[in-house]
Amino acid sequence: MCSSASIPPLSVDVLVVGAGPTGAAAAIHAVDAGFSVLLVDSQTFPRDKTCGDGLTPRAIAELDRLGLAEGVLERTRNNGLKLHGFGGSITAPWPEGPFPTAGSAVPRLLFDDLLVQHARSLGATVCDGFAVSSVTHDVGRAVSGVTLRSSEGTTHEVKVRWLLVADGVRSPVGKMLGRTWHRDNVFGVAARSYCTSSSEDPEKTQWIHSHLELRDDEGTVHPGYGWIFPLGEIDGVQQMNVGCGALATSKRPAKVNTKKLLRHYASQVSEEWQLGTPTKVTSALLPMGGSVSHVAGPNWALLGDAAALVNPLNGEGIDYGMESSRLAVELISSLVNNRDGLTYAWPALLRREFGEGFSLARRLAESLTLDWFLPTVGPLTIGAPWGNSVMGVAARLMGNLVTESDRDVVAKLWRAAGKASIAADSRKPWA
Ligand SMILES: Cc1cc2nc3c(=O)[nH]c(=O)nc-3n(C[C@H](O)[C@H](O)[C@H](O)COP(=O)(O)OP(=O)(O)OC[C@H]3O[C@@H](n4cnc5c(N)ncnc54)[C@H](O)[C@@H]3O)c2cc1C
Repeated sequence: MCSSASIPPLSVDVLVVGAGPTGAAAAIHAVDAGFSVLLVDSQTFPRDKTCGDGLTPRAIAELDRLGLAEGVLERTRNNGLKLHGFGGSITAPWPEGPFPTAGSAVPRLLFDDLLVQHARSLGATVCDGFAVSSVTHDVGRAVSGVTLRSSEGTTHEVKVRWLLVADGVRSPVGKMLGRTWHRDNVFGVAARSYCTSSSEDPEKTQWIHSHLELRDDEGTVHPGYGWIFPLGEIDGVQQMNVGCGALATSKRPAKVNTKKLLRHYASQVSEEWQLGTPTKVTSALLPMGGSVSHVAGPNWALLGDAAALVNPLNGEGIDYGMESSRLAVELISSLVNNRDGLTYAWPALLRREFGEGFSLARRLAESLTLDWFLPTVGPLTIGAPWGNSVMGVAARLMGNLVTESDRDVVAKLWRAAGKASIAADSRKPWA
C-alpha cells in the first residue's frame, strides 16, 4: 500500500488516474492481465461521490466479472423499476435475458472503497491522496510519465507505459491531453441526498422508483426525473438515496436549481415513503452519450465519466465506466506492435460497443429538453391505459438492456434506429 507519507514506484506498466469505479475496475483488470499497476487518486479513501448509487443488471453483470456481484447483492437487492407520473404508475421487473434479473444500490462512500480494496488485495499499488499534476510527453502525443503531487505537497515522477485516465466529469488530466466536452449535446445536472425511511412496504424497499413528472414548486415540468433508490439498512437504519436530475444542452440550459428541486421533490414523496429530512444534499454535472473528443493518444485513453460514458436516458455511468475499463485493458493487451496504439482504436472500439445506443439515447434525451415534449407525451404514455406495455418496453430501452444477441422485435427496431441515428449524427460519439 502507498499512503501520502510513502513513495510511489518510479515506473509502472499501467498508471490509472482516478480510483472511482472506473479506475478501480481498470486496475483490477490490468493486474489480472499481468501488468504492474499504480492506481492514484487525489482524494483519500473512503471518499463520497455525488451519485444516485444505483446499480442496474448491466452493472451487476460487470461486477460479477470483477468477483464482487455476490457481496453487493447480499447487501441490497432490487427487483426492477417502478415508474410514476402523469396519473399512472407501472412496474417493470428487470427483464429476463443476457443480464441478471437483480439490481442494487450501495452508497458510493462504501462501494468505491470496496473496489479500491479489491484492487489493492489483488496486487495493484494504490496511492490515494496523490494527484496527477502534469504529464510528460514522449515523441508526438505519447505520454512518457506523470508528476504526482501528494496532499503534503511532495512531488514524484513516475514513468508509464500506458496511462488510463478515469478522473471523472471534470477530467483535469484529460484536459491536459486535449479532451473537449461538447455541451451542445445533451448533458445532465443532478442532485442527490440521503434520507432515512421507516417504510416496511416491500413495494417501496425492494424496487427502485423513478418519478417522470418532475415539477418544481411553481408547477413547471422539468425534463428529467426524480428517484428513490433503497439502500437497505446502514448502521441499523433503513436509508434511501433520493435525488433528481434534469437534462440540458448549451442551447436549452436547465432552468432549475437542482438542490431546491430535490428538496421540493422529497417533500412531495416523504409521506408515502416515510422519509426523514434529506441530508448530505450535493449536486453535480453528468457528461453523457460520448459527447467528448480527443479520448485517446498512442499510449493513453480516457475512460468512464472522463469519456462521457453515461447513458443519456437514465444517467447510469458506473456500469459504462467499468465496462470501458475492461475493454481498454483488453485493447492494450493486444496492441504490442501497433504504432498508432490507442489513438484511433480506442474511439473506434467505444463507438462499436456503445455508439449506436448512445447516439439514439442522446437524440431522444435531447427531445426531452423541448418545453412541450414531456407535458404532451407523458399523459399519452405512462398515464394512458396502454401505459403498462409501453413503459415496460421503455424501461428496458432506458436501461440499455438490449444486446446484439436479442432477436425480438423491440430489440431489432431499437438496433435499426441506433444505426440510423449514428449515421445521421453530424458529430458521432467520441469523434
Ligand atoms: C447526482 C448524480 C446521480 C447519479 N446517479 C447514478 C446512478 O444511480 N447510477 C449510475 O450508474 N451512475 C450514476 N451517476 C453517474 C456516476 O456517478 C458516474 O458515471 C460515475 O461516478 C463515473 O465513475 P468514474 O470512476 O468515471 O468517475 P468518478 O467516480 O468521478 O471518479 C473520478 C476520480 O478521479 C479522481 N481525480 C480527479 N482528478 C484527479 C487527478 N488529477 N489525479 C488523481 N485523481 C484524480 C477523483 O478524486 C475521483 O475519485 C450519477 C451522477 C450524478 C451527478
